[in-house]
Amino acid sequence: MVISGVTKRYDSAKGSKLALTETSFTIREKEFVTIVGPSGCGKSTLLMMMAGLLPTSSGTIRLGENLVTGPADGLAVVFQEYSRSLFPWMTVEKNLAMATIADRLPKAVVAERIARALHSVGLEGSGKQYPWQLSGGMQQRVAIARAVVAEPRVLLMDEPFAAVDAQTRADLEDLVLRIRDEYDVTVALVTHDIDESVYLGDRVLVLGANPGRVMADIAVTLPSPREQVATKRLPAFAELRSDVFELVMRPKQTASSAATAAAPELAEAARPAVA
Ligand code: ADP
Repeated sequence: MVISGVTKRYDSAKGSKLALTETSFTIREKEFVTIVGPSGCGKSTLLMMMAGLLPTSSGTIRLGENLVTGPADGLAVVFQEYSRSLFPWMTVEKNLAMATIADRLPKAVVAERIARALHSVGLEGSGKQYPWQLSGGMQQRVAIARAVVAEPRVLLMDEPFAAVDAQTRADLEDLVLRIRDEYDVTVALVTHDIDESVYLGDRVLVLGANPGRVMADIAVTLPSPREQVATKRLPAFAELRSDVFELVMRPKQTASSAATAAAPELAEAARPAVA
């Protein structure tokens, strides 16, 4: 997937907001790229444009040879709010079947794919249940199964674990790593969690705010397969997370030092008294 010079400006009666400026990067086939940055830096905007759900203001997005100008074949999206993205009046199986409708597959193939996807997310026995009968973590597993049932080339995930507890989050992170291998899929995942960006990614794109832009593209050279405890204990993990943390914090530090430079008397007043 090639993102070239993408800019997004939101225009409304209240004015114009430059959400993302001159953003370019490439995601190679089978790569897992995480996109991290502070709230409001344009992560979701970028992902929605990659999904073809939002037009760019300028610049282009290509999936292979094709320009992404609307929801594209071979792309699937998992949203943060599973409770709003699953159809509550349909069973889990029917939710999954919906994702294959456009492909007009024979019934037996659809049934086979659904069984495989439910097995992959550990929900073999839940096909006949309704989403609202399942826990939040299980509902997000259904959303992930629904995304892979169409066997996409690229899986786009927008803060998919933000609404679940820490233990479930760790389980779902490992589930997505497994799914990537099982389905041989390329993944772009947006998160504001620095540890998660390093733990999951082959590469971390760090976005800065005002306007949103790519500040760094960091290769994650941690061994695979990753493991929650062992990987996070590695000195290389600590180093990478500090690098990302510093980048995410940098704009704020720059802003506050700029403010201090503009008003030295405030800095003087704020300086702690030294005995
Ligand atoms: P993130 O996902 O990093 O939190 P978003 O992509 O949601 O950031 O938003 C980036 C910026 O664009 C923010 O300043 C946000 O307020 C603004 N924004 C997002 N959506 C809209 C919209 N529909 N209309 C106007 N401004 C928007």
